[in-house]
Amino acid sequence: MSLLTIGSVAFDALETPFGKTDKIIGGAATYITLSASYFTEGNNLVAVVGDDFPQSMIDDLNQHGVNTEGLEIRQGEKTFFWSGKYHNDMNTRDTVEVQLNVMENFDPVIPESYQNCQYLMLGNTAPAIQRMVIERLHTRPKLIVLDTMNLWIEIARPDLMGLLPLVDVLVVNDEEARQLTGQYALVTAAAKIREMGPKTVIIKKGEHGALLFHEGQIFFAPALPLAEVFDPTGAGDTFAGGFIGHLAKTDDVSFENMKRAIIYGSAMASFCVEKFGAERIMNLTKDEIQARVSEFVKLSAFGLE
Ligand code: AMP
Repeated sequence: MSLLTIGSVAFDALETPFGKTDKIIGGAATYITLSASYFTEGNNLVAVVGDDFPQSMIDDLNQHGVNTEGLEIRQGEKTFFWSGKYHNDMNTRDTVEVQLNVMENFDPVIPESYQNCQYLMLGNTAPAIQRMVIERLHTRPKLIVLDTMNLWIEIARPDLMGLLPLVDVLVVNDEEARQLTGQYALVTAAAKIREMGPKTVIIKKGEHGALLFHEGQIFFAPALPLAEVFDPTGAGDTFAGGFIGHLAKTDDVSFENMKRAIIYGSAMASFCVEKFGAERIMNLTKDEIQARVSEFVKLSAFGLE
């Protein structure tokens, strides 16, 4: 089934305890579509960049089967830029600089060929823009997944609250879930978020895995303990791409299949952090992914005598 992804396509500059990068390609939608490309074929991107964005990266996306018909290239304008610095624990980071550039007045245009997509991934961008995409689709997709971040909870809470009833799944990290609900316990926070609209809530806990809440049921996916973590940037988006990519591939939105989907998402995220930027998820094989998913199965499998 076809997937439509919207979100930032960006230049990032990153600093982790292991090193620094100059401007490299990043952005929520970049990570999501690359990650989903290992699962689903109809992989359609809606985003905006400036004329400084390299054609070679668009070619790379196309080679991964990402349809870039909906990627607007604005002449004479610059691509969104974000720079972040990680703390020593690698789970927390500070935003050092944001230049909105083309994102400042992003007005998403949905190509006719993207209409009737069954799966919609609303990657990180302003909630008002995410909402426009839902409103500009002729028919409601079978599943709408929303990602957001602390910034929008702080500066666009009313827009976000208006969007939540329109989506099926919210993906946030633990701090964002607490910030959104004012609840410390994640079980209570998830219940509160479900009252705000989404039937399903996923709470990511970085290197401590992810929780899936759905109609009174909970599933926990661990994160793979890795010897080397270089750069967590994009791990959340890569997780979301694997999650929705698996659902779109199998066209099954049951709780049982969502459990598998969050394991696929976690496996993809575990690759993402091994190198700076999107480098690792641009160069994966399906065998590597399957082998990693098997490691997840082994990680917490045990038998009662
Ligand atoms: P993650 O590490 O999964 O939270 O995502 C990191 C990506 O989000 C980076 O590649 C950034 O370019 C992108 N990003 C950071 N801030 C924003 C923002 N305000 N709007 C959209 N994308 C953003």
